[in-house]
Amino acid sequence: MPKIFIVLFAFFANCVSAEKAFSKRTLQLAAKKYQLNYDIDIKQRNLSASGKITVINTSQNSADHIPLRVYRLLQVTSVTNSEGLSIPFTQQVLSNEDWPVLQTNYVELKLDKAIKPNEIFTFEIKYKGTLLGYTETGMNYVKDTISENFSIIRMDAFAYPLVTYPNDLVNRKAKFWLNRYDYDITITVPNEYVVANGGQLMSRNEHATKHTYRYTNKLPAWRMDFAIARYAYYVKGKYSIFSWESSQNSQALLEKIANTFDLYAKWFGPLEQELGYTFIEVPENYGAQADVTSVIQDAKGFKELDRVYHEISHQWNVKSLDVHSPRWNEGLATFLEALTLNKLDSPGHLSQQTAKTLNKVKDTIKHNQQYDQTAFIEYGKEGLNSYTVGMIFFHLLYDLVGENEFNHIIGSFYRTFYATGSTTEQFIQFVKRNSRKDLAHFFDEWAYSPVFAKRLNEFESYKELYQFYKVNNQTQSASIVKLK
Ligand SMILES: [Zn+2]
Repeated sequence: MPKIFIVLFAFFANCVSAEKAFSKRTLQLAAKKYQLNYDIDIKQRNLSASGKITVINTSQNSADHIPLRVYRLLQVTSVTNSEGLSIPFTQQVLSNEDWPVLQTNYVELKLDKAIKPNEIFTFEIKYKGTLLGYTETGMNYVKDTISENFSIIRMDAFAYPLVTYPNDLVNRKAKFWLNRYDYDITITVPNEYVVANGGQLMSRNEHATKHTYRYTNKLPAWRMDFAIARYAYYVKGKYSIFSWESSQNSQALLEKIANTFDLYAKWFGPLEQELGYTFIEVPENYGAQADVTSVIQDAKGFKELDRVYHEISHQWNVKSLDVHSPRWNEGLATFLEALTLNKLDSPGHLSQQTAKTLNKVKDTIKHNQQYDQTAFIEYGKEGLNSYTVGMIFFHLLYDLVGENEFNHIIGSFYRTFYATGSTTEQFIQFVKRNSRKDLAHFFDEWAYSPVFAKRLNEFESYKELYQFYKVNNQTQSASIVKLK
């Protein structure tokens, strides 16, 4: 190839990143409102969307461009300002700088007038294309497509534009996951399909062969999920289900959901805002995901009630303010699902599940040295499994402080930090302050150091492990400091 072409090729290939590597940038903007209209063509297996997105400048400096990521097979066809004038933009399928296997269509809007700090800006966007999931990234649950059986529009597949760069570390630094927005979305589908969403159904308009569902958020949202299938819809008071299971099974699950909310309200106190709860069935292995007012879950949720308990318990969690959260609330939810199943459906389940989980944790530690060297509070940074270790951690805490105090602490923590969110450190300090037991030694070993991994080898059973912490409740900080 002649040299000039090589140079030109290199230039165009780097067109977007030539300006400034994403790793050197700061995410300045966040979504404030999505008003989008989707038309889903199930036969052709594609979608077209148009509408408005409002962003806010959350940084201290003016922003001269808007970064967006959409699914790699979605093409943006036009971007205009509120006067209908074109906004110049570039788009290019790019690998994430810090996760190259994830490819998104990176769209950058060039603004002729910068957005000042705290200022909002609304633009109109049109895009179309199809969805084919992200299983190649290792996110096996993101099987998202448009098909006759099931289609889904959700964040996991970038089925709507996310105001982010193709560098998740940069996005994380801006704490983009703390951002909340409003949405007002219409989805047009063929008449035989139903659009399920956890927000408020504002209208359903019939056309000749299609109908349009319009949903708005009930609470400020951090994600949007619109599932499209031949659903039946069941309602009981504040609770509802979109499902393709039998009416009998759906009614039974609805009953369970209502009872579980009542039970957790008894344990932890009422939710700060009771806006109902929607259970949306998705095909197997599409992942379970709890939103602020809804959950998407596969058919196993109809039979395996511990999954339902797990997701409902997340309603009593608060936002995480950690940059790398150890996701201790997954440990709490994993413990609560076993505890609830034990109490409501199958006595003896908790001790069996704990024994199983304990063996799993011991096995994990044996095969992965990182567990021997990492304190639980650092799990987020190292990407370690907080579900299993967290389950044992919360079971111990529950037994150490007793049921009443445990429920009181979890409930009052939720009420105290509901509005602001909290860090893991704040959680631990809150538990310490509000317990009548001295938990310093327990937290030193289970949160601040990996000593617990050694204890698991010392003690055969959960019972012995619990007895050890029950008796040894004095801080042994000298030995801990050395181990750190
Ligand atoms: Zn969970």
